Amino acid sequence: MGEVTRTVTIEGNEQGFATTKLDALLSWARKYSLFQYPFVTACCGMEFMAAVSPRFDIARFGAEAPRFSPRQSDVLWVVGTISQRQAPVLRRIYEQMMEPKWVIAFGTCASCGGFYDNYTTVPGLDKIIPCDVYIPGCPPRPEAVFDGLMLLQDKIASGDRSPGVVKPRQDPALAKSDLVTLRTSAGRAE
Ligand code: SF4
Repeated sequence: MGEVTRTVTIEGNEQGFATTKLDALLSWARKYSLFQYPFVTACCGMEFMAAVSPRFDIARFGAEAPRFSPRQSDVLWVVGTISQRQAPVLRRIYEQMMEPKWVIAFGTCASCGGFYDNYTTVPGLDKIIPCDVYIPGCPPRPEAVFDGLMLLQDKIASGDRSPGVVKPRQDPALAKSDLVTLRTSAGRAE
């Protein structure tokens, strides 16, 4: 789509107008209205359910609505290990999604096969379909999941289709308490 400038009338308590690019307006709208298709195959599914539960409130990001029809979905969450027998199914689901569409690899197995280094497991979903965001972890914590979701939103807003990887966070609680305890224990053992 070309860079077309539109004037948008803003209705509300006050009236006015703003100028923007149509592309930017659409991207802004899309990044906050993501219908998700969860393709859940393995134990990462438990953490996915935690991440989309009310405790973590994924609705803040406009991404809470699941759709179990690929044609109504914007984001394909691939959650867990992908076996060779599931690969054609995953490919079919991706092809049934309408453009624009995005893919998130949830967890290490979906990203690269994890520790399943054998002939039955696909070593990462990008061997079958394109991937926009990789979320490492076995399983990833909800905080990492939201980092991945926000990374995808940034990519949607900027039109960036290059793959992105969620960087690990240092857990401050672990750094301050548990690690000190571990080091102390290790010192005593010596
Ligand atoms: S990354 Fe870990 S938790 Fe997730 S599916 Fe693989 S083995 Fe299970």
